[in-house]
Amino acid sequence: MFITVYEVGPRDGLQNEQIAINVEDKIHLIRLLSKAGLQNIEVTSLVHPKWIPPLADATEVLKGISQDDKTQYSVLVPNLRGLERLQDNQVQEVALFLSASETHNQKNTNKSRVESLHALRETAYIATKRGFRLRGYVSTVFGCPYEGDVSLADTRWLIQELFDMGVSQISIGDTIGVATPKQVHEVFSSLVTTWGSDRFAAHFHDTRGSGLANVVAALQEGITVFDSSVGGLGGCPYAPGAAGNIATEDLVYLLEGMGYETGIDMSILLRAGQFIQGIIGRELPSKMLKTIAG
Ligand code: MG
Repeated sequence: MFITVYEVGPRDGLQNEQIAINVEDKIHLIRLLSKAGLQNIEVTSLVHPKWIPPLADATEVLKGISQDDKTQYSVLVPNLRGLERLQDNQVQEVALFLSASETHNQKNTNKSRVESLHALRETAYIATKRGFRLRGYVSTVFGCPYEGDVSLADTRWLIQELFDMGVSQISIGDTIGVATPKQVHEVFSSLVTTWGSDRFAAHFHDTRGSGLANVVAALQEGITVFDSSVGGLGGCPYAPGAAGNIATEDLVYLLEGMGYETGIDMSILLRAGQFIQGIIGRELPSKMLKTIAG
């Protein structure tokens, strides 16, 4: 059975790194990831550079990625103004995001969830007309740094709104890495019962060490798309020094070892991890990377 590993390192990872990385290095990283066989890569974000300075070079990154390989590229877009910075044919997919938690959404986007839905609706409409496929992110589904528990009914409401906008796949995020398999089963069995398993991706963080266990739980609920970040790039914005996204290398090792097919060449993937680890200049969280260190 084929499982899609959805690489988010160049965006979700690098947006949380403090080191300035030049455009050529970002493009080289994306090329290596594509060469490793990753079929989906989220390359950058068109959020206003004032909010996310590490991704202020989004336009240059988008110009530098190659369109003749078989990788599908995606870019995070917050609103119509972000979408206007994107040229036709630069990527195949546009990603829209909001939080299941009202407080986290307010702090992250300066909007209420209802205001976010309004902005996303008009962005989705234009993006679809321009021929982009739509991906959605619902974050803080498993817990919020401000509110604690997050209502599953709220998550379900936002999911329906995103599907109504024409979003084809929604990534369900454990933004602060608090989930454990029990909750993963509860959340995904509810979503899969209503909408089916092929409409969702799982986005886990390893902040408390439960990232890969949660992957196994989501696999058991029929989920076949998993977000991860090369090297485990990114860290956790709410807990300095802690792990964030699960590492792509570790995810691929787990999946292949369990008999799933990913289409990913581990040796090239590790080269990508080593490359960006060298640029960042600190040891990245990926366990697989540590096994080849030194
Ligand atoms: Mg993440």
